[in-house]
Amino acid sequence: MNFLQFRNNFELLIMTILSAQTTDVTVNSLRDTLFTAYPTAEALACAEQADVERIIHPAGFFRSKAKNIIGASKKIVEEFGCEIPQTIEELVTLPGVGRKTANIVTNHGFHKAYGIAVDTHVKRLSQRLGLTKSSDPDTIEKDLCALLDRKWWEHVNYLFISHGRAVCTAKKPSCENCIIRENCPEAK
Ligand code: SF4
Repeated sequence: MNFLQFRNNFELLIMTILSAQTTDVTVNSLRDTLFTAYPTAEALACAEQADVERIIHPAGFFRSKAKNIIGASKKIVEEFGCEIPQTIEELVTLPGVGRKTANIVTNHGFHKAYGIAVDTHVKRLSQRLGLTKSSDPDTIEKDLCALLDRKWWEHVNYLFISHGRAVCTAKKPSCENCIIRENCPEAK
């Protein structure tokens, strides 16, 4: 199962920003070139946007993503002493970072459970399993946090993504092979 293959929290943050609207496989394929050229926030903060655009082009939306990752790096250098912020409130002040990205960084980088990262898989499975009636990611996050013990929060994203990719796919859920079908109102 492919997830972002990051080696430190700077890479996790930048790769998560790049992963919007593309696959983890594509972002993983850019990792070595991008971080060999720009191994730290200080290095990426000083990068030429055109050079970064060339490297991250396969990830799509390369102009706005290049602008965001350079901007986020500058802010990390100038306002956070070159350290990746560890709270949701601080992380969402960085360009290109919303609650989903902030939750991924705090969950998987710092192992702090302030919330649950709601991506397309978490959204779809939460709805199918009857855990939320909402389609708004922030409301889904609140519904899941209210239902689940905090010790599970940092694991929900990976678990739901794994199940969503392997079994409960968007187009054709494989209910006959699903280990939670007994508890699922959408089981076919
Ligand atoms: S029973 Fe079907 S719809 Fe429900 S979680 Fe499993 S695969 Fe998805």
